[in-house]
Amino acid sequence: MELVFDGHNDVLLRLWKNEGHGGDAVAEFIDGTAEGHIDGPRAKAGGLAGGLCAIYIPSEKGLILDEPDARGHYSTPLDAPRARAASLDIGMEMASIALRLDRAGAWRLCHSTGAIRAAMADGVFAAVLHMEGCEAIDADLKALDVFYAAGLRSLGPVWSRNNIFGHGVPFAFPMSPDSGPGLTEAGFRLVKACNELGILVDLAHITEKGFWDVAKTSNQPLIASHSNAHALTGVARNLTDRQLDAIKESKGLVGLNYAVIMLRADARDDAATPLADMVRHIDYLVDRVGIDCVALGSDFDGATVPTEIADSAGNQKLVAALMDAGYADADLKKICRENWLRVLASAWHE
Ligand SMILES: [Zn+2]
Repeated sequence: MELVFDGHNDVLLRLWKNEGHGGDAVAEFIDGTAEGHIDGPRAKAGGLAGGLCAIYIPSEKGLILDEPDARGHYSTPLDAPRARAASLDIGMEMASIALRLDRAGAWRLCHSTGAIRAAMADGVFAAVLHMEGCEAIDADLKALDVFYAAGLRSLGPVWSRNNIFGHGVPFAFPMSPDSGPGLTEAGFRLVKACNELGILVDLAHITEKGFWDVAKTSNQPLIASHSNAHALTGVARNLTDRQLDAIKESKGLVGLNYAVIMLRADARDDAATPLADMVRHIDYLVDRVGIDCVALGSDFDGATVPTEIADSAGNQKLVAALMDAGYADADLKKICRENWLRVLASAWHE
């Protein structure tokens, strides 16, 4: 089994929703459930040894993709902006779940790559707290200090909506990621503050202009935690060859997103998506950016994933498919965890 440290999941969102209905997040993670994709037992069974766990402020109505037209094209409008007070409440509730899981020993909240390696060696899920869209943070970045103290070590300035820091890309096919403006003045300050504090800046969900704004501002490698190749699946969320080249040049990383809408050539939300589509994206990314800059970013608990994977217990099926496609052990180690650990060490000033 090849242990995986994964670049993106929404398990905190799922646990938070269940707590809203009286559920116990800690018990659910420890005991396991049939719901969603990640819990302790299933992660262990699939060799999912850790990953970046997102605080994400959900859409008020939930994300519903527009119906595709006869050609399979769709263009879902950007989600409406979210107010800060409500977002801060939700952000703290999800951070609280992450802290309680840590206190109970259900997972270990890690602030260094040494801690990640130690947790993985101990067989404890190595969680890194990430924020996917910074609606919970104020323009003066005071909440950033508090979330940092709570363990936040990675953030994406925007999700697929606009906020005070920048602009997100819509869920649309086919569409270029050059879909709107980039960072705001507060967004530039946020990136610089992340550089200083040692918080990884994630480019998933940001417009192409925002991507270049971060590229010219940040002193970190360029990271897209859960994005695929636009050349293969032309959704606005995927990365163009020019963006991939910039990631390579910065010795950054792109994490394969298992979301079927970002894997399939037709971008349909259809779980009957072969593992071959995942391998095809990995092959393309490795060819474009090199074996040192490709990793995994499953989007477990945040997206429809291929039926053959099903949930985190099925994670090794992708590893086996990559092995069958000719990837050597040394390559798989890099894709499955070492590339993530390298860029985290860089962003965290280790
Ligand atoms: Zn996402």
